[in-house]
Amino acid sequence: MNVPSEGSVHVKIGGRGRVFTGNPDVDELLFFYAGSIVMVTDDTFVEGKSFVSALFHDRKLLELIPSPVVDEPALREKALVNVDDLQELSISVNRLRKSIEPHQIIVHLYLPQVLVKHGSDAVLRLINFWMSEVRRAGHLEFFVIPKKTFVDFERKLMSIADGAIEISVEKTARGYETFFIPIRLSKDQFNLKPVKYTIENGKIIVKVSPAVDPHQTLAMLTPLLERGDEIKLFFTEKDDLEISPKYYLFFKETSGWRLSWISDAFGDELEKVMPLFAQLFDEGVLKLVSIPVSEEFLGEKMSEYGEKLRLVSSASFVSLFSVMLDYLKCRVDKEFEKREFIGCMSEMFARLYSYSVVSKERLSFERLMEKVLNTAFGCKAVVRQRSSDKFIVELKQCPVCGNPAWAEKEFFCKMVIGRVIAGASKVFFKSSVDVSEVQCGFGDKGNCVFAVRIVS
Ligand SMILES: [Zn+2]
Repeated sequence: MNVPSEGSVHVKIGGRGRVFTGNPDVDELLFFYAGSIVMVTDDTFVEGKSFVSALFHDRKLLELIPSPVVDEPALREKALVNVDDLQELSISVNRLRKSIEPHQIIVHLYLPQVLVKHGSDAVLRLINFWMSEVRRAGHLEFFVIPKKTFVDFERKLMSIADGAIEISVEKTARGYETFFIPIRLSKDQFNLKPVKYTIENGKIIVKVSPAVDPHQTLAMLTPLLERGDEIKLFFTEKDDLEISPKYYLFFKETSGWRLSWISDAFGDELEKVMPLFAQLFDEGVLKLVSIPVSEEFLGEKMSEYGEKLRLVSSASFVSLFSVMLDYLKCRVDKEFEKREFIGCMSEMFARLYSYSVVSKERLSFERLMEKVLNTAFGCKAVVRQRSSDKFIVELKQCPVCGNPAWAEKEFFCKMVIGRVIAGASKVFFKSSVDVSEVQCGFGDKGNCVFAVRIVS
């Protein structure tokens, strides 16, 4: 390996070991610290490399590149590393860390080759092993990888890295525009928000536009929802918040969830929710925090969701809610009728409860449905599969039709029970479903029977 002469790479270190880029606009946005590692992802790999160079435009970086490569006229210091042998790579990079002056900027540019050769587990072990050495040596180290190419590795490196920068190129009306998203590298208001930038004369020019572009936010949020294992949603309530009760309930109850759980449990609703999600995110009502949420979180919420499901599906809740709504009248928006809202709540809690049950125990659809109906109404249900996409749910003693306290039985049987069945089915099949009541037992006509059809 060629080791550059000592003292050739230099960064300014501020208080608390912060590494400044020397570009005031960037230093407002991104906080780097000595002894940390930052993952940089982009679609092409080339942009990521240029980005880091431009970030520290007037400083020298030490680039570690796989050997053999065609050498270009070196404006930057480069060191060749052997990617064929992980052990040798590990030793030589560690030796390099110790041999150069402290507080340098190291850019690792060989990950794709190493990943292809040795697989993601071995490379992760290597980086994990390096972590204490990185802390000790006090350099700032960037690991550049192409986005969505080594998906599993990308996700795991994201969780052990001190921060990440995700670069994206978007086609807009004005041509191609480049953005970066800071992850765990900035103040709350900039975390996970795309920042438009250009590279001019080798220097990053950031364009923080005060006007928010909802399409841009949406384009950023959608992929995060799909793989947001490390991102937690926070719903912060404001007094003047104007939001329909249905969505209020949705965000209130999923606050604290991993983003990926939300897309998993509410996948069929996502398209409808996303514009509002983006708007509330821009308004600061919804916050995304990159903190891992424990796998047990949902299991611990199971009894709470079950309790709420039982409450909103009960006869007394229906009558109490009717009284309250009449009293509140104007407080609740007109878009929602009382009945629709009751249905919505039953379905929402059936979803939340089912999702927490499924996270804890592996159940067949039949067992899940029986469990959910038992929790909601304390009744016994028999569930049978009719065809590949059709199930029949039969209630021997319908809790609505068999309950003298329940008003508007026929309607609520269909509405409350039907929506609970729909909620649990949507979560289980991760798809839209069609639930219809094929027979209502009201007035001694036998059992209440529902048909569930999976709509793909
Ligand atoms: Zn019934």
